[in-house]
Amino acid sequence: MSLWWLSVLLIPVLLVSARYCWWKPALPDALPRVLMYHMVSTQGDAKKHRGLRVNPKLFERQVAWLAANGWTFVTMSELAARDYAGDKLVALTFDDGYEDNLTNALPVLQKYAAKATLYLVVERHDNDWSVKKKAHHNSGALAAEPKLSDDQVHALLASGVFELGGHTLTHCHLPSTAFDDKVEEISACRMVLEHRFNTPVTSFAYPFGIFADEDVALVREAGFSNAVTTHEGIDGAYEGAVEGAFDNAGSGLTDPFRLRRVKISGKDNFWAFKIRMRIGFRGYL
Ligand SMILES: [Zn+2]
Repeated sequence: MSLWWLSVLLIPVLLVSARYCWWKPALPDALPRVLMYHMVSTQGDAKKHRGLRVNPKLFERQVAWLAANGWTFVTMSELAARDYAGDKLVALTFDDGYEDNLTNALPVLQKYAAKATLYLVVERHDNDWSVKKKAHHNSGALAAEPKLSDDQVHALLASGVFELGGHTLTHCHLPSTAFDDKVEEISACRMVLEHRFNTPVTSFAYPFGIFADEDVALVREAGFSNAVTTHEGIDGAYEGAVEGAFDNAGSGLTDPFRLRRVKISGKDNFWAFKIRMRIGFRGYL
């Protein structure tokens, strides 16, 4: 075979390998997986934010696969409190508060006896927070996505499937927010949610996954017991030896206020989902 033909065959193999890192060994089942979702909906005509929308059929396939493969669904408060048995733990988390979490995700979660945590923005209506990340993100596409009403949030909680977590009052960009305002964004969001929905709120998600050390301290002082980031990966897996790393500091989690999550993207196929579950991320392309 000529060198030319060899390279023609080799290039796709290398591209697929770089994209999916299929050769990387699976991380131990004992390390909990915290999965990050936003919307569960069809892509429709919208070109923006494709990664944030997981198709409902694919979502069901993912949840069914987790259930069939022995993964135990836990909420973030159960994970942080180590209130569980077994070692294949998965926490499904949903950011922001999209209406399809009730209409599309809840029926699937109920079907497979799964649990989830919802990081709810208090002021989520008529609020185009995408511009707070980058000023040119002003398409309004995210603001136009239907959000959960308070009644719908009550319904999610009444189902026993979801617990509530904080995600600030307005989905602010924490590092550029004035100190007094960010104290309000972090501590008031917990108090408002607990009061409005009569439920404990112990977990926090940093908006856009963007935060400074100061913000971590404020989240702790506001009474949250843990916080998730958008750093991709599986905690306990990257601090030198994997063996025992998960039990660092006795917390059961590497740093309970900077937890990594496995990003579940609407751009991924089912194979990519399984690879993310194995190694915490998809690949390099
Ligand atoms: Zn968010």
